[in-house]
Amino acid sequence: MSNKETDHKTEILIIGAGIAGCIAAISLAEEYNVTLMDKQITPSDRIGESLAPASQRIFKKLNLLGHESDDFKQTLFSNNLGMQSYWGNNQLHIKDYLKNPDGFSKSLDRKKFEMYLREIASNRGVCCFWGIRLFNSIYEENIWKVTGKSDDLKNRTTRKIKANFVIDATGRQSHFAKSIGIKRIQYDKLISCWISMPNTNTNTMSTIVADEQGWWYSAVLPNSTRIISFQTDSDIIDKATFKKSSSFITFIKTNKIIHSLIPKDEKNITFQGTVSANSTRIEQVAGKQWLALGDAAISFDPLSSQGMFNAMANAMQVKELLANFNIIKDFNLAKTEKFNKVYSDQIANVWSHYLKHKNLFYKAETRWKDSLFWKRRNS
Ligand SMILES: Cc1cc2nc3c(=O)[nH]c(=O)nc-3n(C[C@H](O)[C@H](O)[C@H](O)COP(=O)(O)OP(=O)(O)OC[C@H]3O[C@@H](n4cnc5c(N)ncnc54)[C@H](O)[C@@H]3O)c2cc1C
Repeated sequence: MSNKETDHKTEILIIGAGIAGCIAAISLAEEYNVTLMDKQITPSDRIGESLAPASQRIFKKLNLLGHESDDFKQTLFSNNLGMQSYWGNNQLHIKDYLKNPDGFSKSLDRKKFEMYLREIASNRGVCCFWGIRLFNSIYEENIWKVTGKSDDLKNRTTRKIKANFVIDATGRQSHFAKSIGIKRIQYDKLISCWISMPNTNTNTMSTIVADEQGWWYSAVLPNSTRIISFQTDSDIIDKATFKKSSSFITFIKTNKIIHSLIPKDEKNITFQGTVSANSTRIEQVAGKQWLALGDAAISFDPLSSQGMFNAMANAMQVKELLANFNIIKDFNLAKTEKFNKVYSDQIANVWSHYLKHKNLFYKAETRWKDSLFWKRRNS
C-alpha cells in the first residue's frame, strides 16, 4: 500500500476532460495557467457521436485537426452525408448537408476524439492529471483548495490543488457544483439503451424513427461500427427489455426499419447498456470563482444532436467572457458578480431556445395519442 500526496497551484482548474473540459483547457491555455483533471485514465466508449457542422469553425479557431494526416483524421471521424427520419408519419424524410456552408456533420469515434483532445491539451501546456477524481473542495481567502484522489486504493495518489478559479466540466453529474450544494433540475425521465455491431448495411446515413413508446436512433461510426439506441422514459419501459442483448434484440424486431439495420448473425452484437438522456440543468451555473460548463450546466435530449457542439461553443464563450472581465489574474468581487450575471444569462438564453425547439420537434409526432411517452410531450 502506498499513498502519494502532491501540492499544486494553478490559475484555472478544470474538473472533467470530456469535450467541454478539453476545449476549454485548449482555448484558455493561450492566456492562463490551466490544470485539467479527469477521473478516467483514458476516455471510455460512449454513445453520442454526431457532431454539428458548425463545430468546424471552433476547430479552425483553435487550430485543431489542421495539420494531421487524412489517414489519422479518418480514424477520428467520417462525413455524415445526411439524416433520414420517419417522424410524424410513415414517409421517409431526408435532410442532407450538401448546402450547409459549414460542410457535413461528422460521425465521431468519441473515445479516439477525446484522446486526441487530451493529447493536444497536454501538448499546449495544460497540466493534466488523469485518473484523479474530485474528492472535496474548500473556498478560503478567495482561493479554491481542491483535493482529487485516484481510485486505486492500494496505490493511492492525492492531489491538493490551489486554484484561482474552478470550472466544473464533469458532465451530467455536475460533481463540483453538487458538492457545494447546487441542485440539479430534471425535466423528464428520458433514458437511452444502446447496442453496437459491425455495420453490414450499404446505407450509412443516420436514422431516426419514432415509435409508440419512444424513438430509435442509428448511426455508423468511422470504424464501420453501427450503433442502435432506443430512447424512452425510465418509468415506461419494461426493465427486462433493457437488461441484456437478447431482450433488446427481440424488442428491435418490433420495428421493421430498425430491424433491417441489424446483421443476420446476431452474435456480433454487443450490448452497451443504458444511460440517462434527459433534459436537465443546474439551478446556478456560476458562483464565487467557479462556473459550470457543457453538460454540467445544461444537458440536452439527444434528439437535438447539439450536446457536443453546445459544450464546445460554451467553452469558447467562457474564454471570451473571462478575458473581458479579467477576473482570473485580478480578482474583484464586483466584477465577478457581473461576470456571473452575464454568464448565467447566456446559459439561460441557450436553454430557452433549446426547450422551444425540442417541444416543436416532439409536437410534430401525433400518431400515438394513447401512448404516455407522447402524451407527456404533446400536451
Ligand atoms: C444517448 C445520448 C446520445 C447523444 N448523442 C449526441 C449526438 O449525437 N451529438 C451530440 O452533439 N451530442 C450527443 N449527446 C450529448 C453529448 O454526449 C454531451 O452533450 C457531451 O458529452 C457533453 O460533454 P461534456 O464534456 O460536457 O460532458 P462529458 O462528456 O460527460 O464529460 C465529463 C467528463 O468529466 C469526467 N468526470 C465526471 N465526474 C468526475 C469527477 N468527480 N472527477 C473528475 N472527473 C470527472 C468524466 O470522466 C468525463 O470525462 C448524446 C447524449 C446521450 C446521453
